Amino acid sequence: MNRRDFIRDLTCVSVCGAAMGDARVGTAATHNDMRTSAFLRKLTTGVCVVGGGPAGFVAAITASRLGAKVTLIESLGFPGGMATAGLVGPISKFNFNSRRVVGGIAWEFVERLAARGGAIADLPKGNVPFEAEVYRRVAREMLEDAGVTCLWQSSVCGAPELAADGSIQAVTLSTAGFLSRLEAQMFIDCSALGALVGYHGFGGFRSEKGTAQPLSLCFHLGGVDTEKARVLVRHDNERSANPVLRAALEKAMKSGRIQSFGGPWAVWGSTIRRGFVSVNATRAAADVTDPVEVAAATALMRREIPVIAEVIREADPAFRESYVSQTATVSGFRECRELQALHRITAEEFTSGEYPPDTIALAAHPMDRHLAGSSAQNLSFLKKPGAIPLSALISAKCPNLLAAGGLVAAEPAAFASIRVQAQCMASGQAAGTAAAMSVKTGTAPKALVASTVVAALRDANACLPGGD
Ligand SMILES: Cc1cc2nc3c(=O)[nH]c(=O)nc-3n(C[C@H](O)[C@H](O)[C@H](O)COP(=O)(O)OP(=O)(O)OC[C@H]3O[C@@H](n4cnc5c(N)ncnc54)[C@H](O)[C@@H]3O)c2cc1C
Repeated sequence: MNRRDFIRDLTCVSVCGAAMGDARVGTAATHNDMRTSAFLRKLTTGVCVVGGGPAGFVAAITASRLGAKVTLIESLGFPGGMATAGLVGPISKFNFNSRRVVGGIAWEFVERLAARGGAIADLPKGNVPFEAEVYRRVAREMLEDAGVTCLWQSSVCGAPELAADGSIQAVTLSTAGFLSRLEAQMFIDCSALGALVGYHGFGGFRSEKGTAQPLSLCFHLGGVDTEKARVLVRHDNERSANPVLRAALEKAMKSGRIQSFGGPWAVWGSTIRRGFVSVNATRAAADVTDPVEVAAATALMRREIPVIAEVIREADPAFRESYVSQTATVSGFRECRELQALHRITAEEFTSGEYPPDTIALAAHPMDRHLAGSSAQNLSFLKKPGAIPLSALISAKCPNLLAAGGLVAAEPAAFASIRVQAQCMASGQAAGTAAAMSVKTGTAPKALVASTVVAALRDANACLPGGD
């Protein structure tokens, strides 16, 4: 990594890697020293999964169950990503017209979650409300049972090291500010933001500058009369939001009480607890390459949460006694980078109702695109489930890199459907399967016979076209 790799040059930022000044403290044995490349720990694994969100924890469990030595690196202290740290919910979307289109480890996870009282698994639309605390626990237990080495509170930082053939040799990770080096045979980027895909031209931005979907910061309201709130939701071909609350928030925006909002989505069914709803209503656009803009957007949304809660309280009797019980740890980027893959899913093929032979997952969620700079949403319902092919998960440039979840290669309109959790878990399972097979056979992912990956997914109860 050198100076020209930085997108912004700020005067006071301290995040990862060594300071570039001359100050030198301690010795290489106990402190990192960039000039001597002294890493405190050198680790090796078969498959390295970056990010423990819905895509990453499923990818890691899959590869480990298939016999690979797997290390999962996660910045936070628990799995679940946006589901647990971002308070987004429910888990969408397992069913298309009441028929289940996602199975495999994703559905096994939901069943385990439900068995522990942490989810409601049998709602007909295939959206699964859940309790974030139980989600974290069950996902962690499944990772441990599968034998995955989980490096919590460790972040991959800086550009991955490349071997002479252009494959990734190792990544640098920072744990409490101490740097380690992890070597692996195969890498899966499930960071949604592009911890690996963001370097060496392995990926690019999904949307044209200024058109990416906005950020949102979710929060929970307690004290809600959830029986009354339940009837407020309207599902039609334009949107599924609370119309009464939307009108109140529109008025609040016109009068300058709030700057922006989306939805709002504030219904029973986003959590499983009587009296609590998860609210997705804040909205702010930001250039994700600019830390100052991202911070300003997050700060704006945190300022607007109590005001939005007040507007909601005033607008409807179901919310009259409600209060903000929790705000998300992190704000959510709906779109950021994507892998430069062997194939990029186009909107046209996604809506064609046709399934390429390397289809590894089906999508059921509407093409649900939130618009930057307004409270609007473009929602287009699918006539048939959309296809996610294996080729959209395999790097075109790097011989040992795959991606899943938020980094799958797809045009923005198709991504607006596949970006939800069940589909991210399903692509995670496919990437984990391909990575384990690659390590076992010594074959690069792009040289794998796709039908063997598809067959392994069928054996693992994935719902794929042509099955029962
Ligand atoms: C506002 C909002 C509302 C949403 N609502 C819903 C909804 O109602 N239902 C639904 O199903 N989906 C919803 N989604 C989409 C859902 O969040 C995604 O489908 C899902 O979280 C993507 O999974 P992922 O594993 O790809 O990424 P993430 O969930 O983002 O997980 C990525 C993980 O990688 C980690 N990470 C990132 N960088 C690094 C690094 N350098 N080193 C180590 N770890 C790293 C992060 O900490 C995180 O845990 C919503 C998204 C947003 C933004």
